Amino acid sequence: MKKSTMMCIAAAVLITYACSTVPISGRNRISFISETEMQTAAAQSYTTLLKDPSTKVLNTADATRVKRIGQQIAAAVTKYMNANGYAAQIEGFKWEFNLIDSKEINAWCMPGGKVAVYSGILPVAKDDAGLATVMGHEIAHAIAQHSSERASKAAVAELGGSLIGAATGNKSAAIQTGINQAYGLGAQGLYLLPNSRTQELEADHLGLIFMSMAGYNPASAVTFWQRMSAASAGAQKPAEFFSTHPADATRIAQIQKDLPEAQKYFKSTSGKPVQ
Ligand SMILES: [Zn+2]
Repeated sequence: MKKSTMMCIAAAVLITYACSTVPISGRNRISFISETEMQTAAAQSYTTLLKDPSTKVLNTADATRVKRIGQQIAAAVTKYMNANGYAAQIEGFKWEFNLIDSKEINAWCMPGGKVAVYSGILPVAKDDAGLATVMGHEIAHAIAQHSSERASKAAVAELGGSLIGAATGNKSAAIQTGINQAYGLGAQGLYLLPNSRTQELEADHLGLIFMSMAGYNPASAVTFWQRMSAASAGAQKPAEFFSTHPADATRIAQIQKDLPEAQKYFKSTSGKPVQ
């Protein structure tokens, strides 16, 4: 058998056994780098970042709001995941929500539910529903395991032929290389690497539903993104929330299209959509 054919078979075997389904969107994602490995790396990075002397973690009324809204959404999502056969996908999650003093209009979430909101986004978020839009979006990135998907894709791209080794028993070494290459930037790589356009739109879609499950009107997401659009016009550098993909207009149009679906969860008291 030709070497190239063998490589294809090995990659196909690996990928076949390494796909999982994103809740709600139903998208099939590649994920042969385990969530547990991602969560361990993320928990360490999060702690390091919060303890860094240059990071000012706030303990204000707004910080309490961030924690309260984050916990509300996380509780609603956990209930949904457990009730719909996705409990294994949130195993090991330990949600943390912190408000960091920074002028940057940004927020991010590391694997396992480690969320940071920068104080610069608060004026744009404006109210609790705006903040719930931000946090629903970030929580969605963690629930959909977008980081391990990015690391898996990077491993496939970077490792190439060594995937044969990964498929035949030397998997952990290949995975470690994948993580290192995907997150070669160090701790910051866990949240600074841009998400793909697909992941961004998926986080918007899931986030809209998650904020609804927690009792926040998803219609608020539209006005929030309109404010973001205006704010990003004056932004100096791209950030998670200013990712140029998808463009604001596409994003807002997609959210408007997803609103009726999200509204069903908003009206629900059972955690399941109202038909
Ligand atoms: Zn995002």
